[in-house]
Amino acid sequence: MTSPRTRAALVAGSLAALCAGHAHAADPAPVVAVRCGRLLDGRQATPAEAVTILVEGERIRQVGRGLATPPGATEIDLGRSTCLPGLIDNHTHVLLQGDITSAEYEDQLLKESIPYRTIRATMAARTALEHGFTTMRDLETEGAMYADVDVRNAINRGVIPGPRLFVATRAMAPTGTYPLLGFSWELRVPEGVQIADGVDGVRQAVREQVKYGADWIKYYSDRRYYMKDGALHSWVNFTDEEAHAIVAEAHRLGRKVAAHAIGREGILSALNAGVDTIEHGHGLDDETMDIMVRRGVFWCPTIYVGVYVAEGRARAGAPIWLTMVDLHKQAFARAVRKGVKIAYGTDAGGYAWTEPQARELSYMVRYGMTPLQAIASATRVGAELLGREADIGTVEAGRFADIIAVAGDPLQDIAELERVHFVMKGGQTVRWDKP
Ligand SMILES: [Zn+2]
Repeated sequence: MTSPRTRAALVAGSLAALCAGHAHAADPAPVVAVRCGRLLDGRQATPAEAVTILVEGERIRQVGRGLATPPGATEIDLGRSTCLPGLIDNHTHVLLQGDITSAEYEDQLLKESIPYRTIRATMAARTALEHGFTTMRDLETEGAMYADVDVRNAINRGVIPGPRLFVATRAMAPTGTYPLLGFSWELRVPEGVQIADGVDGVRQAVREQVKYGADWIKYYSDRRYYMKDGALHSWVNFTDEEAHAIVAEAHRLGRKVAAHAIGREGILSALNAGVDTIEHGHGLDDETMDIMVRRGVFWCPTIYVGVYVAEGRARAGAPIWLTMVDLHKQAFARAVRKGVKIAYGTDAGGYAWTEPQARELSYMVRYGMTPLQAIASATRVGAELLGREADIGTVEAGRFADIIAVAGDPLQDIAELERVHFVMKGGQTVRWDKP
C-alpha cells in the first residue's frame, strides 16, 4: 500500500508535473534496485547469491549479479535476506472469517450484511498482502453475491491494498445441497451459493456470473462424505449432463472451472465433466490421480484448514473430518510421487485470517514435498494454474515486480515464509520491516 508519506510525495510530484505542463504519461517510470542476499527465483533449484533485481514501474527490467544502480534509482537493501517471488494462494475466501461449525457460518450469513462482510474482506485482503501473498484465486463469496468483484476492482484501481485477485463470485450447487439448510420452509434465508438446476439452469448461472465479473467458475461436485471399503465416498450433487454443461459453458466463455470434490464419486464426476482444478480432493486414489496427470488437471489440497476444523467438527458430531486428515496425508504423498500438479491453496477464510496463511507450506513438506517443491507450488505452479505464467510466479525480466523477502533460509526451514518482512507488489513496496 502507499504510505501517507509516499502518497504525499506522489501528489506533490503530479502537481509539479501539472505546473510544468507535462503530460502524466510522459513521466518516466520510477526505477528501483532491489539488492538481495540470495534469490530463489521460482525456477532454479539453488539460490543465486548477491543478486540485484532492477524494477521499472510495475515490472522487472533485469535480474543479475553486479548490476549497477542506475542514476536516480531508489535502492532497497535486502543484502541479508532471501528474496522470492510473491506467493500465490489459489484457494481463499476473503468474504469469510472462519467457519469451523455451521453456527459460525450461519452467523455470518444471517447476522452480517454484505456491506459489513465486504469491509471485513478488505481487511482480509490487506492481511494477505502484508503476509506476502501478492496473488489469490478467491473461490466464492459464500452468500455475499458479487462482492468479491468489487474487492478485486477496488484493489486494481488502487482504492485499497490487496493481492491480485481472480474471483469466482457465487459458485453453484443444486437445490437442497448447500447451506443454509434446516430452516423452516416459511423463512427465506440466504443461500451460500447460487442454486442452479438442470442443464439450462446451470448454463444461465454461468452466464450471469461471467456477466457480473467472474474470472473463474466454481461448483460443488459432492457432499456427504463417508468411508466404505477403506475409501472415501460421497454423494454427487449434479447429474453428468449438468456438470458437463457447467464446464462447457464456462469454457465457451473463456473461463476455467474449479470443482469442490472430496469423495471418489465427486472427484470422478468432476474429472469426467472436464474441470481444470480439483479442490480439497481427500479421496483421490491411483485411478483419479492418473487421470489428472494425463489431462494436466491441477490439485489444490487445502491441508491445513482440514486439520484446523477437524476437532471442532468431530465434536459437533462429524468424526469423518478426523479420518479425512489421515486420508489427505496419504493422498498427498502419493500425488507428489505420481507428479500430479499441486498448487498451493489454503482455504483461508474457512479459518481465521489471523492464522498464518503460509502455514500450509509446512504441512506440504511434512507430507512429502521438498521445501523447493512447496515453494514452487505457491509461486510458479500457482501462476500456471491461473494461466498467468508470463506475468507472475517467478522473478524474471518482464514479470510483474511481485517480490517478497525473509531473513532466514526457507530451504532449511520452510516456516521462514510465515515471517515475511518485505513485500513488493507491482513495483510498490507494501511492507518493509527494517531490522
Ligand atoms: Zn473453500
